[in-house]
Order: sequence, then C-alpha cells, then structure tokens
Amino acid sequence: MGSLKRKIARTADKAQKKAEKKMAKKLMMFDMLDDECAACKEPFDKKCKEHAATWNVVVREQEKLVRLYCPECWDKANNLIKEIQDDLRVQAEAESQGADQG
Ligand SMILES: [Zn+2]
Repeated sequence: MGSLKRKIARTADKAQKKAEKKMAKKLMMFDMLDDECAACKEPFDKKCKEHAATWNVVVREQEKLVRLYCPECWDKANNLIKEIQDDLRVQAEAESQGADQG
C-alpha cells in the first residue's frame, strides 16, 4: 500500500515539476523583458494601462530575445519598412524597364 501511495505522489510531483518548468520558462522570458524602449530608451511603465496597451513586444524565441518598443519607435520602424519596400519595388520596376530597353 505504501509503495502505491509513493508512486502516486511521485507522479504528481513529476507533473508539478513539469508545470513549474513551463512556468519558469515563461517567467524567464518575462524577466528578459526590458523596461525601456529598445530604440529610444524611453522608460516603460508596467503599471500604466496605456503603456501596456500601446507598447509593442517582439519575441524571438530562437534567439531568446524579447524587445520592447514604444509606439513612436514602432511607427517609425513600420514606416521605415514601408519605405524600404517601396524603394525595392521602384528599383525592381526600374530594372525590369531597363531590361526591356536593353
Ligand atoms: Zn522608443
């Protein structure tokens, strides 16, 4: 009887350890979260609802990176991406036109 009880206890213990590990991983990711914007170093207020709603978190699990961006830098980054995409498109169009003439 005693061994069965121990077995159950061990199984429960294992499950708990697994859950703890999962939790620890999550907490670790959270721990890696900066408390300032990765670009402009503006402080992030964890207690501020507006900050929580508007700031952006980028998680790169492979690189174990968590980055925080304030809305301003996020907008800037998005605009930059858009500009680069536009540039690439213009470049591609110019190239295809040049190929036509060549
Ligand atoms: Zn910023």
